[in-house]
Amino acid sequence: MAEKKVTANKSTNKRAPGKKPAPKKQQLTRSVSRCPVFKKCGACQMIDTPYETQLRKKHKKVADLLEPYCKVEAFIGMEKPEHYRCKVHAVFTHDRKGNPLSGIYREGTHEVVPVESCLLEDQKADAIIATIRGLLKSFKIKTFDEDNGYGLLRHVLIRIGKNTGEIMVVLVTVSPIFPSKNNFVKALRKEHPEITTIVLNVNDKQTSMILGDKEKPMYGPGFIYDICCGMKFKISPKSFYQVNPVQTEILYRTAIDMADLKGDEIALDCYSGVGTIGIIASPHVKEVISVELNKDAVKDAILNARINEIDNITFYQNDATIFMQQMAESGDRVDLVFMDPPRSGSTPEFIEAVETLSPKKVVYISCSPDSLAVDLKIFEKKGYKARRAVPVDMFPFTRGIETVVLLTKKDEN
Ligand code: SAH
Repeated sequence: MAEKKVTANKSTNKRAPGKKPAPKKQQLTRSVSRCPVFKKCGACQMIDTPYETQLRKKHKKVADLLEPYCKVEAFIGMEKPEHYRCKVHAVFTHDRKGNPLSGIYREGTHEVVPVESCLLEDQKADAIIATIRGLLKSFKIKTFDEDNGYGLLRHVLIRIGKNTGEIMVVLVTVSPIFPSKNNFVKALRKEHPEITTIVLNVNDKQTSMILGDKEKPMYGPGFIYDICCGMKFKISPKSFYQVNPVQTEILYRTAIDMADLKGDEIALDCYSGVGTIGIIASPHVKEVISVELNKDAVKDAILNARINEIDNITFYQNDATIFMQQMAESGDRVDLVFMDPPRSGSTPEFIEAVETLSPKKVVYISCSPDSLAVDLKIFEKKGYKARRAVPVDMFPFTRGIETVVLLTKKDEN
């Protein structure tokens, strides 16, 4: 209250007719962002918006899109929404004098914007990147120059298993020969003994991809584990794994709670990635069938099921639509479909195949409310009604919206 009295300064309200009001102090300070590279980076569209307002705005967006189909429940936000990213990438370069720099590409360019610390990224990851930058000179390691092709180090990727404490550092270089490799590893681990593995990844191509095909561990096993909803998952440098571990647990638990499982169901997990949702759901159902297009992801999924000693799950590498069509043709049935498609959403053919397979319920996990709304419209035409929609904030400070939706057959209320 005291603050309000100060800002309502009467003298500034009295003005001579025709004179413009003096700009308020508040307005002047507002243009300074809490992130020094906000304008150049472009990743956090809501960096200066209070968290509650972010959630309100995102809720409005998802509600506007989904309202024709279903009421949208409260947004599940984070208690501490900063530094949630457990996968951190830094591109390495140098200034004109040859001093190493690391940061991000300026939006839509290959110009590097130096970054010391980021509000989204795990702070330990940022500290490791700073240490690597500091070690380069004494080890005479040059950063790669995209213009003339000289230099060695291109990128550093850090992946953190938040629930295991394991940390992987991936050094992406243009050549497999890393000078004084063992001493470099020693020096890095001396500063950060919490690092559990260091991988050398070779990317000698002119490409916008960060990681190349060849890699070998410089220290440790070359991968880390993380635990999500009580299950252990292997994370390799290239594995797809959600970047916000706190909210991922909430997301998957929300999806499984919504399914209201009794234990006797056959569940189909479509777009299953490294098997996360199916593996987490497996103790709650009779059987899980998972289908995923990417061969490497399926290999990881099989391994993840083995690590967790799960024997009621089977993985198939196939297009999810074709797979469901084949299931329907052979007379197989499922009680429930989990689906977690890419940002572009599903397809009318996929939804038609769901209709043919005729599960009682569909739990749709979506990272794009726009494509979700398109799909819900098709689902409605095919006899599936959205009953619940719960948005989970996986990406604070950005526009990203993740939503879990429960659909059931229209005639089964
Ligand atoms: N459910 C997983 C992964 C979701 S990402 C998780 O939560 O971690 C979406 C996945 O869909 C990717 O792994 C991608 O390879 C897969 N995918 C894309 N198109 C597909 C298709 N037509 N059929 C099956 N899987 C597909």
